[in-house]
Amino acid sequence: MGYNFNNVKPGDPYYANWCEKRRRSRIRWIGSLALAPITVLIFLGVQFALMRVFEVNTPWGGLVLLPAFLGLWALTAYAADWPCPRCGKPFYWRASLLGGGYWPFADNCLHCGLPEYAPRDESADAPSSTAITAQQPEDAR
Ligand SMILES: [Zn+2]
Repeated sequence: MGYNFNNVKPGDPYYANWCEKRRRSRIRWIGSLALAPITVLIFLGVQFALMRVFEVNTPWGGLVLLPAFLGLWALTAYAADWPCPRCGKPFYWRASLLGGGYWPFADNCLHCGLPEYAPRDESADAPSSTAITAQQPEDAR
């Protein structure tokens, strides 16, 4: 069964963790989208200054792309380093020679298998999944 953020309520044990996950993901996306036009503008400014002001015909203005790639890497690493609420290891990132790496669309923790947006640790609690609580009003009719 798949969860989404709508399954998580403010009283759930992992609520704050999933909010932090969404916050990091938004920072990553907004930062990545903002980085592209900023980098293009800086590149055009540097290239204009090199060619028109200093009258140097060189493609080295493209070096401004290097900080942009570092910025993208840092934003991705910040989102990927979000710790799993259950095991504390990176949820979407696993260091391994066989099958490791960053899987941003993983549905489960790559270390302990906790489903994405699980409101609590189902294996530790009594069997109370959101599916059962959602069906209870129907059974009462
Ligand atoms: Zn985990």
